Amino acid sequence: MKTWEENIRKVVPYTPGEQPNQPDMIKLNTNENPYPPAPGVEKVLHEMDVDTLRLYPDPTAGNLVRAIAAYYHLEENQVFVGVGSDDVLAMCFLTFFNGKKPILFPDITYSFYDVWADLFRIPYERPMLDENFHIRKEDYFQENGGVIFPNPNAPTGVEMPLADIEEIVRNNQDSIVIVDEAYVDFGAVSALPLIKKYENLLVVQTFSKSRSMAGMRIGFVCGNPVLIKYLNDVKYSFNSYTMDRTALAAGVAAVEDAAYFRETCRKIIDTREWTKTELKKLGFSFEDSMSNFIFAAHETCPAAELFQALREQHIYVRYFPKGRTFNHLRITIGTREEMETFVAFLKKYLSDR
Ligand SMILES: *Cc1c(COP(=O)(O)O)cnc(C)c1O
Repeated sequence: MKTWEENIRKVVPYTPGEQPNQPDMIKLNTNENPYPPAPGVEKVLHEMDVDTLRLYPDPTAGNLVRAIAAYYHLEENQVFVGVGSDDVLAMCFLTFFNGKKPILFPDITYSFYDVWADLFRIPYERPMLDENFHIRKEDYFQENGGVIFPNPNAPTGVEMPLADIEEIVRNNQDSIVIVDEAYVDFGAVSALPLIKKYENLLVVQTFSKSRSMAGMRIGFVCGNPVLIKYLNDVKYSFNSYTMDRTALAAGVAAVEDAAYFRETCRKIIDTREWTKTELKKLGFSFEDSMSNFIFAAHETCPAAELFQALREQHIYVRYFPKGRTFNHLRITIGTREEMETFVAFLKKYLSDR
């Protein structure tokens, strides 16, 4: 080994879902929204004055922070924005998880958490979900250097009741608790109102799923002003201009169209409920999902086989073959039409088998 190799920060990277590009594909593998962003986003992009790109963007991302704060009835100093919630979460790990005690997150959860922990050399422990893939709140009452979990959890879709979340936050007043609400807009209850009551709580959300803007990269976190100040200190020590002018303008337009936001979320929830009924009829089982995906196993057909069969039809879903998730598929909710095609294929495939 070369000496300089000893000085390299080595990490096993996160593997994003694949982004195939076939005209006829049905893409249900990365929890993207099947509907376009709010109409105002298109307008803003068309009217964008390209000359302004000479200039650095507003380092405080003020317009976007204000729009988000107004929408959620918060103060500006309670909101921090970043390049997708992945950027926001990475900043949170870097800022808040610096203790010697291990941070806690579930064994089955968003597969980026352990990657950031490894990258930043943060010790961690991963309490196991119960046999029904539910988080056991008691696992998070032990001493720790921080707590993070998504609600609803990914890739299970299971929602934790707000009272249980509050119990975790209340039992951890000596550490920071981060609730990653990437999917909360699809019918779950948000922990946002609790940030006024608990100074150790942070709630992270994203424009990637419920606001149809995965390609634009906007995420945010809300918490008490002291925590937001610490986050900004780290951000300004790393990269002052995380949000570009396009993302700032488009993000404001997206937040301002509340009616469109509610309508598309409603459509996805309705399609999800329809898909649940159909999947049950076909012999699938799953915990009740409050997200824009369903994490399902079939009673006789192995997930690996179904994954492959769907792929050959250019229907893409996500499969996590390692560990306890080896027999489940994570199926993103597309349009009603896409889900009808998906269900029709499964029906035929399973009966011909
Ligand atoms: C999708 C997702 C994110 C990250 O989304 P961004 O596109 O980076 O905003 C974060 N957490 C969970 C649980 C997710 O599923």
